Amino acid sequence: MKPSDLLGKSFDCECGRRHTVPTEHLYYSSSAVDRLPEVARQYVAQPEYLIMADERTYEIAGHLVEEALKNDGATVKCFIVPDREGESPITDDETRDFILGQAPTAELYIAAGSGVINDLTKWIAFERKKPFLTVATAASMNGYASSNVSATINGLKVLFQAQACKGVFAIPDVIENAPFDLTASGLGDVIAKPVSSADWKLNQYLFDEYYCQFSVDLLKDLESVYLEQPDKIKKRDGEAIQALFEALFYSSVAMTITGTSAPASGGEHLFSHTLDMISTLEGNQHDFHGRQVGLGSILSAALYEKILTIEAPEFTKLPSEVDKVFWGPLTSIVQGKYQEKIPKSELAARKLSRSENWDSLRVILKQNLLPAQKIKNCLKQAGAAHRINDIRLKDNRLKTEKLLQIWKNANQMRERFNILDLAIMVGIMPGQAEDVVNEWVKD
Ligand SMILES: [Zn+2]
Ligand SMILES: [Zn+2]
Repeated sequence: MKPSDLLGKSFDCECGRRHTVPTEHLYYSSSAVDRLPEVARQYVAQPEYLIMADERTYEIAGHLVEEALKNDGATVKCFIVPDREGESPITDDETRDFILGQAPTAELYIAAGSGVINDLTKWIAFERKKPFLTVATAASMNGYASSNVSATINGLKVLFQAQACKGVFAIPDVIENAPFDLTASGLGDVIAKPVSSADWKLNQYLFDEYYCQFSVDLLKDLESVYLEQPDKIKKRDGEAIQALFEALFYSSVAMTITGTSAPASGGEHLFSHTLDMISTLEGNQHDFHGRQVGLGSILSAALYEKILTIEAPEFTKLPSEVDKVFWGPLTSIVQGKYQEKIPKSELAARKLSRSENWDSLRVILKQNLLPAQKIKNCLKQAGAAHRINDIRLKDNRLKTEKLLQIWKNANQMRERFNILDLAIMVGIMPGQAEDVVNEWVKD
């Protein structure tokens, strides 16, 4: 079965669950926007639409959508999400409340934009209990078919479930010519898959948690296009960019059908989220999600390699408290999440202390993993961020010392167990963190 055969379908999976793909349409073609009016009409009694965009994405795609819908005789309004002090909008509770107060109502919402615009539209449509469609402007992130919104609420980066869009529309010319940083960011996001799915498998093995190999394998064919020829991403080759876009799309499908972000988000994502949170706290700016995730993925893969070579590690449980100095005002909210993980670490230590369990876990994890060198080379040859110095903060670059602080504490912000926790339990983190960083992401 091709991934595209799954759109809008329900099916019984080998994982034991019945999966439903709520997104019913994916058009990646030069005529994608021409198809939109007809698709939109399927979901409304009255064709009354609201297009949400920012100034840039309105210029790139929003106006094309507006025109196509108006030509179809629909009532169309546009809401341009304003920039904040010269910076692009962000997905947080303040912005949501602002939009809910200002944006006209409609029968169906259309996100003209990727990332933040897609998330905000998803959020607003969800709050107003209406369906939405997405017109993508970049292969920059894996939220297109996901029902999750990644937002900052009360200062904490959280993921919560809203609804998935009914259809995604992308014009190849727009996606290929998007600012290259966005495309490279998309690659960084999707390249997390081998390490995030190893983290997921770790949870299944240790705690009998739900896991679905089908959703892990869903992007296999697409993945090989950019993993084997990353330079084609750099050259904005049509086939490679389409593969990247579709891999991001099906990565979000994987999260939606399994009802968890686990297929695409593990310890490498916590590194990026923590960097976001600390930057915001310090009044600084962070880099694109996928650029940070790519770096986190190299580091996670390097940790896995290091840990899996240990023959008979000694396991200790995780420390019971988060680092108060590091988290500052976020301490109590982070501690709340983190402490759910302590009993898990005790359980994991008990289980893994039996050498036959450790040996079988090592074999299982290797099935999903890719070598750190392969991930790094792919990012490097594609022209994506792969060194500490590549990560941009407001007016400077990420420094080694800061990266180390963030990486060492990132495991504390979520309750889900991941490679960073395991590295602490076997004594590699925090002691050898600096060596790993120097070896892999220094240059
Ligand atoms: Zn499944
Ligand atoms: Zn991501």
